[in-house]
Amino acid sequence: MDSVGVAAAAPDAGQGPAWQSKCPWGAPSTTSISCSLADVMSEQLAKELQLEEENAAFPEVVVAAEGPFITGENIDTSSDLMLAQMLQMEFDREYDAQLRREEKKINGDSKVSISFENYRKVHPYDSDSSEDEVDWQDTRHDPYRADKPTTTPRRGFIGKGKDITTKHDEVVCGRKNTARMENFAPEFQVGDGIGMDLKLSNQVFNALKQHAYSEERRSARLHEKKEHSTAEKAVDPKTRLLLYKMVNSGMLETITGCISTGKESVVFHAYGGKSATEDKVIPPECAIKVFKTTLNEFKNRDKYIKDDYRFKDRFSKLNPRKIIRMWAEKEMHNLTRMQNAGIPCPQVVILKKHVLVMSFIGQDQVPAPKLKDVTLSSEDMKKAYYQILNMMQQLYRECNLVHADLSEYNMLWHDGKVWLIDVSQSVEPTHPHGLEFLFRDCRNVSQFFQKGGVAEALNERELFNAVSGLNITADNEVDFQAEIEALEKMNEDHVQNHGKKLSTFSSDGDPPIYDE
Ligand code: ADP
Ligand code: MN
Repeated sequence: MDSVGVAAAAPDAGQGPAWQSKCPWGAPSTTSISCSLADVMSEQLAKELQLEEENAAFPEVVVAAEGPFITGENIDTSSDLMLAQMLQMEFDREYDAQLRREEKKINGDSKVSISFENYRKVHPYDSDSSEDEVDWQDTRHDPYRADKPTTTPRRGFIGKGKDITTKHDEVVCGRKNTARMENFAPEFQVGDGIGMDLKLSNQVFNALKQHAYSEERRSARLHEKKEHSTAEKAVDPKTRLLLYKMVNSGMLETITGCISTGKESVVFHAYGGKSATEDKVIPPECAIKVFKTTLNEFKNRDKYIKDDYRFKDRFSKLNPRKIIRMWAEKEMHNLTRMQNAGIPCPQVVILKKHVLVMSFIGQDQVPAPKLKDVTLSSEDMKKAYYQILNMMQQLYRECNLVHADLSEYNMLWHDGKVWLIDVSQSVEPTHPHGLEFLFRDCRNVSQFFQKGGVAEALNERELFNAVSGLNITADNEVDFQAEIEALEKMNEDHVQNHGKKLSTFSSDGDPPIYDE
């Protein structure tokens, strides 16, 4: 299915994109996909296909409007939207050609020339116009533009007498060439040549330019594969479309930028807009967590979800992309449970596929610091400790959850209290490894506060008992761990014999309440 809606051929240098050589009105190339009847019946599949098409088409149009979020060049002829956009593109090219003619006419032989560059519709990188190799100019990002707004006039030199500088002047030319490297595709790493006052000879520049082009073509060939993964910083077209729609619908006002790039997610900050429904209020500032659709990291994580009975039935039937969505879904459900229990955590705004929008913890685009990055007074440290102890108990008893990645990295300090985040991996205590995860959480919390000088901080075993209400008496880590695993095994045996889990691990009544 991944191949549907993606143009096979990459644009070739000089010839323009592949679609140009075909008649835009031509019949769409149909790719035959083998799929089961169940798939055909699936509404989901239909939606997916529709989206694939839209995704293939959209990026071209939003290039100008969305800046850094929008790139991509999937071209196909199989939808009306697509055709409309191609015609628009054709129109834009004509418009640019006309603009160039007018530019030429106005400038004539004048010594000072005016550039219409900024009025062009099509980015020069999209355009197939073959202008003079070295004098090819898009000066939009050219830092020398302010000082030298004019190109070298037709007569080929500026200045007078011995101060004459020709367009072939080595230094001027070299600097210009260095600046022009900025025009290469964004993925093409050119380094800080301008900062170093690098002067590139025409020969080197042309070689580099050729290389940049062929690299771009190569990456276009890899395009299809790449587009299905969320890149390190930027996001793939599917995600961009989702984000774009959120802004377009007015739900979000603007997406300001990236707060965090982790192994499994990219988090953006956005200003909230207006909700379509009146009963829902969009927070003034939002965090958008985009779960990465690359699968490298996913392998490390499947133990959380595979054994989580809430997802058990679904797991086997899912493709990896859907599993990523399940992470987002899991985070949403877990956050909602926490919200209901009154635990300070981001409030869920909306979930769309692998994109979760929630309230932003922080202010004016500045995210609240992680507990590991903030220096607290000993009083606040103690306060934070007791708050976390209470939150862990609430999480376990009221939300029936174990965080499973609790540490100073996933706790934010905001408004004089601790906020819990990052709960996509959280599981129920009766998860086959739930108690082990809890023990690990307790170890992190205990160590952090003991090192942080909180004398009252329980050790990891005490903390475990305090949170779970279990009364494991082992006085050393190894035995303690063994008892935890024995309990988990008992639960698994129960599943084997009775076909269901224990609802909870039996404890000797409520654990003691620890308070300041
Ligand atoms: P990851 O799985 O990548 O660790 P997290 O949910 O921990 O994902 O988010 C990564 C970082 O993004 C956090 O450490 C935090 O700095 C920031 N972040 C995430 N969610 C929010 C939020 N709701 N408000 C403010 N910052 C957030
Ligand atoms: Mn995190």
